[in-house]
Amino acid sequence: MSNAPLIIVGAGHAGGRAALTLRDEGYTGRLILIGDEPHLPYERPPLSKALLQGSMDLAGCSLCDSARLTELGIEHIAGHPVSRLEPQHQRLQLADGRWLDYAGLLLATGGRARRLPQAQANVLYLRTHDEALTLRSALRPGTRLVIVGGGFIGLEVAATARGQGCQVCVLEAGPRLAGRVLPPVISDALLALHRAQGVEVRLNVALESIHAGAVQLVDGQRLPCDLVVVGIGMQPNIELAAAAGLDVGQGIRVDAYLRTSAPTVYAAGDVCEFRLGGLYQRQETWRNAEAQGRHAALNLLGRALPFEALPGFWSDQYGWGLQTVGVVTPRVISRALSDDGVLLFYLDAEGYLQGACGWALGNRVAKDIKLCERLIAARVALNEASLAEPDVSLKHLLRG
Ligand SMILES: Cc1cc2nc3c(=O)[nH]c(=O)nc-3n(C[C@H](O)[C@H](O)[C@H](O)COP(=O)(O)OP(=O)(O)OC[C@H]3O[C@@H](n4cnc5c(N)ncnc54)[C@H](O)[C@@H]3O)c2cc1C
Repeated sequence: MSNAPLIIVGAGHAGGRAALTLRDEGYTGRLILIGDEPHLPYERPPLSKALLQGSMDLAGCSLCDSARLTELGIEHIAGHPVSRLEPQHQRLQLADGRWLDYAGLLLATGGRARRLPQAQANVLYLRTHDEALTLRSALRPGTRLVIVGGGFIGLEVAATARGQGCQVCVLEAGPRLAGRVLPPVISDALLALHRAQGVEVRLNVALESIHAGAVQLVDGQRLPCDLVVVGIGMQPNIELAAAAGLDVGQGIRVDAYLRTSAPTVYAAGDVCEFRLGGLYQRQETWRNAEAQGRHAALNLLGRALPFEALPGFWSDQYGWGLQTVGVVTPRVISRALSDDGVLLFYLDAEGYLQGACGWALGNRVAKDIKLCERLIAARVALNEASLAEPDVSLKHLLRG
């Protein structure tokens, strides 16, 4: 390795985790973490939950404090976007004109909230801490809030806003909530829960326009409101890599080692497009940012380990917990849990568990999903009747 530093572009979750891992793993050379946000690396899940409610602050979501970064000798360049990358010369340029050489580079540039085509007044988005603070200050008792998008961000904002006493209406273009990622039974449970909590949820809705005090639907209806939050997905920050000639698709493409098409350049987190089950895809989850951040760090140190972690995510709404692990298959077994919760098991043709999805009050599914993860890893042949029976413990099945 040359004397040039290792550099991480993107001081979010994956980038921050990679920097900390490099030190944990004994890398003692120069290490630079560059981010365009003015903050320490932080985790985003609380932005739509505890931080939006006001029960957590930025320090509570940060991966570490600045004293720890200093102690570890991690040079954090905050508030400075990287504007250019020249992989053939192993160097990059900051927007302020500075050039930095690197021996190895990790691109962990995440994404930004997908915008509606026209800029509108009183429309907010939620991806960053600063956007969460702006939204938090607008959520007051009685605020009439329209949320465009019935995916996780929209639904979590809806739940938090109800807790703040707002009147909430969720508009979803599709026939069910979070329909791209959730099975119908859990979409239906989410719909029932939100409606029971007083949220007006409209499915199959087409938006015409947003005005100062109302949202106009294509069918002619006008929904008066004080504020609109748009949660229609995320746009991966691939421009830096694309302009540098790296292979990109919907994200920055990597091989099994999280290595991009440029030598010594890796990618991790939401921006990383990797092969899962033979197909290129990105994962926009905490678990993936954590696992790939760690993994890319190991490979930057020359370990050459293929990335094999299981996907998974969670969401919390009104004290209910949703958790998934692994992948979805057509062979689904359902187990009823107490209080109308449900646990779904996804088996392959041989009866081995490939994935699971749980929904229950509190965090009780966390334990079940951990056991499912162990069942997937252990490749225990499972019987459908035992999986469906709530009285058969997953621990018992694990012992075979
Ligand atoms: C509101 C919200 C709630 C969520 N809740 C959950 C949840 O409950 N469960 C779950 O599993 N996942 C959740 N997620 C998803 C999870 O937070 C993300 O998957 C994770 O943050 C991705 O981490 P990352 O490091 O890849 O990207 P990010 O955390 O987005 O970090 C990327 C960083 O790179 C910076 N950057 C981009 N370009 C440049 C550049 N050119 N130069 C310098 N810096 C740059 C960005 O500004 C950003 O700071 C949530 C996300 C959001 C927004």
